[in-house]
Amino acid sequence: VRLLLVEDHERLAAFVAQGLRAEGFAIDRVGRVDDAESASRTVRYDAIILDLGLPDADGMDLVQHLRDRGEPTPILILTARDAVGDRVKGLNQGADDYLMKPFALEELVARVRALLRRPGQALGLRLTSGNIELDTTSPEVYVGGQPLPLSRREFGALELLLRRSNRVVSKQLMEEALYGFEEEVSANAIEVLIHRLRRRLQAAGATPQIHTLRGIGYLLSEQIP
Ligand code: CA
Repeated sequence: VRLLLVEDHERLAAFVAQGLRAEGFAIDRVGRVDDAESASRTVRYDAIILDLGLPDADGMDLVQHLRDRGEPTPILILTARDAVGDRVKGLNQGADDYLMKPFALEELVARVRALLRRPGQALGLRLTSGNIELDTTSPEVYVGGQPLPLSRREFGALELLLRRSNRVVSKQLMEEALYGFEEEVSANAIEVLIHRLRRRLQAAGATPQIHTLRGIGYLLSEQIP
């Protein structure tokens, strides 16, 4: 499986490439849209991981060009946190999924695998479990059809849990996905966050519950595991 990584941040690109190689993927790495264009003309990639802020053009231009040429290669875009407009635009223009920076490598690998399994299908626009519905593009959460306003981190944590519903999300993954590299994370930050999110979901009448697996992580499910 061969992937094209388009990312101009040298250290991040090297880290991601190394991580993906360790998972058995072949990676070609470029840092500019024009290099990505020529690479994608000569090699048939199984998927493209695309940063949007690139030195010579907007990563979205590449999405547009590929789709205009009828290229079905699945594209995962990397966007700055909170750049909701970017995500909506990216998905509308033919990207298949997005991942917010900073992200955990484990999460990137999971998304790439999902893209390879379900090529050409927009992923995770609406995530549901029981009567919880999370719309990743708006972004809004509904419980039993009623909107439930959440903080940015509560939303992020719920999104992770929904993307892996009935599977465990480790505390470490949650920390990596929800906090920046430079942010100080207190030892119990995730516990406090999950505690608050759990109470808010319960108060809103959510049917699934967040279960704590001591020393392992968290799991969202309708049954007690
Ligand atoms: Ca960039």
